[in-house]
Amino acid sequence: MKQKIAVMGGTFDPIHMGHLMVAEIIRADAGMDRVLFIPAGEPPHKQGYQVLSGEERYRMTELAIQNNPYFEASRMEIDRPGRTYTYETLQMLEDQNDGSKEYYYILGADAFAYVPHWREVQKVIRRARFLVVRRPGHEIVVPSEIEGIRYQVVEAALMDISSTQIRGRIHEGKSIRYMVPENVRQYIEENGFYR
Ligand code: ATP
Ligand code: MG
Repeated sequence: MKQKIAVMGGTFDPIHMGHLMVAEIIRADAGMDRVLFIPAGEPPHKQGYQVLSGEERYRMTELAIQNNPYFEASRMEIDRPGRTYTYETLQMLEDQNDGSKEYYYILGADAFAYVPHWREVQKVIRRARFLVVRRPGHEIVVPSEIEGIRYQVVEAALMDISSTQIRGRIHEGKSIRYMVPENVRQYIEENGFYR
């Protein structure tokens, strides 16, 4: 039997309980052997806000997953310059695959709806099956224009929480306790992030 690995990609700026709960439910309920968290590299152009460095987001990811033996963090995207497209990440994973592993890709409903706009989307859907989770405020829209897209909706408790919301709360001086793991909260506070 092949090892089933669920990939959880994201900016993780910061990683929060929504990411972790979704990953754990998918692991347990969709029969995954492991979840691989891959923080995205730094975007080449400035977006609306300044994203923390890859190293800092990777560190928060490591802290967040440290007591779950089924969770792992990967440096593969932050160690490359700029943003890595998902088809490239899946290609790199496949290049290291000796045939013993099968990759799945976790997406929230918001990200799933955006798949048709991805670079080299045909390569992506040939290489991975999607595990889609609901997200408050987003319908699950199946990109029907993409032929052969393989996906499965996994039911998880809805958690109305986002990194944007967390950054906003910190900026306003509000508590983010219980929205992120305690060690991540402390790391953010010690470093004065998002103020
Ligand atoms: P931001 O607000 O900065 O976009 P985010 O909370 O959406 O942050 P991302 O790093 O963008 O987090 O998301 C990574 C992946 O996790 C995406 O597939 C996204 O849909 C999913 N995700 C994030 N938060 C949730 C949540 N609360 N419920 C379900 N899926 C989520
Ligand atoms: Mg997002």
